[in-house]
Amino acid sequence: MPKKTKKEIIRSPKGMHDMLSGDIRYLERIIDMAKEIAEFYGFLPIQTPHLEHAELFSRPLGEMSEVVEKQMYTFRTKGGDLLALRPEATAQIMRAYSESGMNSWPHPVKLFYYGSFFRHENPQKGRFREFRQFGLETLGETDPVTDAIIIKIFYLILHELGFENILIRINSIGDKECRPYYKKELANYYKKKFNYLCKDCKRRLKENPLRLLDCKEESCIELKAKAPQMIDHLCDECKTHFKGVLEFLDEAEIPYMLDNYLVRGFDYYGRTVFEIFIENSESPAKEASNEGKENNHEKAPIAIALGGGGRYDELMAILGEKILPAVGGAFGLERIIFEMKRLGLQPRRVAQPRVFLIQIGSTAKKRGFSLMEELREERIPVGESLSRDNLKTQLNIAAKIGVRFALIIGQKEAMEGSVIIRNMDEGTQEVVMQNKLIEKIKAGLKK
Ligand SMILES: [Zn+2]
Ligand SMILES: [Zn+2]
Repeated sequence: MPKKTKKEIIRSPKGMHDMLSGDIRYLERIIDMAKEIAEFYGFLPIQTPHLEHAELFSRPLGEMSEVVEKQMYTFRTKGGDLLALRPEATAQIMRAYSESGMNSWPHPVKLFYYGSFFRHENPQKGRFREFRQFGLETLGETDPVTDAIIIKIFYLILHELGFENILIRINSIGDKECRPYYKKELANYYKKKFNYLCKDCKRRLKENPLRLLDCKEESCIELKAKAPQMIDHLCDECKTHFKGVLEFLDEAEIPYMLDNYLVRGFDYYGRTVFEIFIENSESPAKEASNEGKENNHEKAPIAIALGGGGRYDELMAILGEKILPAVGGAFGLERIIFEMKRLGLQPRRVAQPRVFLIQIGSTAKKRGFSLMEELREERIPVGESLSRDNLKTQLNIAAKIGVRFALIIGQKEAMEGSVIIRNMDEGTQEVVMQNKLIEKIKAGLKK
């Protein structure tokens, strides 16, 4: 490998990015809201490591699943283990369940998480190789109400953040009783159209015909329109389960749409699958002509996917453990931040300084330095510019921030232990002894 130039070293790797305070305020608002609602519904936090044995992911995803094929970051450790940066959390949480003895916890075990995940894909606008997700998992329960609760929480989070036009697309992809028949039907259908399929789909047809329904190529999308639908092939148990989920969604008045061709990227899903969208009412005409293309998300797409999930009752068995029914889902946090900004939704509010500390001279600077701490202990948000010495400069900063009071300590005040309180709106000043200062500020801020 050629050595990186100096200039290249101070650029972040492709698809990785810094998140700065502007975006972090949005991130924190989402996480605060998500935590509050998840905890209300009895979900407990979990943090799993960023690294796992690569096989934990490659086994359940299916050897040929695209994430494994080309998107997972793997490396050999000095000890010879093959590790991977986590591409998703579900397999990890199954691993944690078994490893941490959660089978002895009251069931179902309900967990939520957030953090970074990694996929080595070609970065497009709004997509990153390190991306953040918030997710929920309910382990050890088949009751359709658990599927509905997961969907409801995702819905509530978006709703409380201020999103409108939220839509859940939902489907059942059956279980190991009925899905094989459907897969066969689907394969038969697509075999007849083999020559019209894209290169990837020709290969997918052999491995997992369900994944053809997920293809974004225009020609494949056209073929999908006449493909057989899973809903017509569900066994009685799957039908009852699906009906149950929908009834709970009706009960909660959550807007959903049956999407008979919805499948999820990973092979381990069964029964319920769902995706969460916000619909864009601004320019539907424009979008109609662009339907099915991946790259036009920036130009007012008709529906923007923010997250999704489903049921995966067979995953634990694929990992070689006892069967454990489970359902979960995740949100892409970068995408939500992007949409919040686009729609003008509010980020987390940070307490703005109501007073500003001004000092002139070295003795005053020391006094100011310790006064900061007194104000912090009293939880009075204070602005400062301790590294500046010029009175005018500091007054300008105070005016710019828009504080109510400036606290001025000059040489004289530093000597006698007093502070000048300047009312910034009225331009009036008052000298106060430092032991009365907090009291005075608090009274003044109340007015
Ligand atoms: Zn295709
Ligand atoms: Zn079934």
